[in-house]
Amino acid sequence: MFEHYRTRGFVIKKTDRGEADRLFTVYTEDFGKLELIARSERKIKSKLRVGLEMFYFSEIEFIQGKAYKTLTDAILINQFPEIKKNLGKWEIASRISVIIDLFIRGQESDPAVWQLLKEVFRSLNDWEAERTRLKLIYFYFLWNFLSILGYGLEFYRCISCRQEVFPENMFLNIREGGVLCLACQKKVKDFKTLDAGSENIADLIKILKVFSEEDIEILKNLRVEEGRLKALQKISHRYLLETLEKTK
Ligand SMILES: [Zn+2]
Repeated sequence: MFEHYRTRGFVIKKTDRGEADRLFTVYTEDFGKLELIARSERKIKSKLRVGLEMFYFSEIEFIQGKAYKTLTDAILINQFPEIKKNLGKWEIASRISVIIDLFIRGQESDPAVWQLLKEVFRSLNDWEAERTRLKLIYFYFLWNFLSILGYGLEFYRCISCRQEVFPENMFLNIREGGVLCLACQKKVKDFKTLDAGSENIADLIKILKVFSEEDIEILKNLRVEEGRLKALQKISHRYLLETLEKTK
């Protein structure tokens, strides 16, 4: 007899397989990322269908076969209806899911990632805000997630000389993963610092610190102008690509 396992998780990816089967990627509380096959899931009568849509939070049961883990039960806990209704929210949930899938390769539980996912999905569902402001939830997720995985940016000390860096002479080096002081920035020509347009690096760093040090609830009251949001988008995107490169 196969042993049955039960856990809770978020559906972050699904792919059709063969005639009626479907492969699900679920980020779970007890096992981290799992790939599970749902036999005949695409048939109308499958009881699995109820709990297995994108971004659903469900309790699942599976058995470990020789090659695959097979889903045997899925009970819906929360379907996050607002994410489904709102295109902006849906896009953010998709991005978060893709990033989880890209960075987490093995099967290993991580309470910090689990906690973060629960927070961001709940906030994304509950928070009423316009599309541009919703992106703050994505940035919050991204910077916390990378930091949990050990890729956090160094905000406080110069990555070259290790001296404390102050807002008035602060530079950011995305590739090396942290801030530089004025002296090191001048000294080392190889250090390509980030051009944030008219935005002040120190102001951007301040927001990144808020993400990594404060509770997600703070986003509701966080004032970020549009220009700064764009700069944040640029930094986040570049840092994401740079970090992905490092993990290859
Ligand atoms: Zn320095």
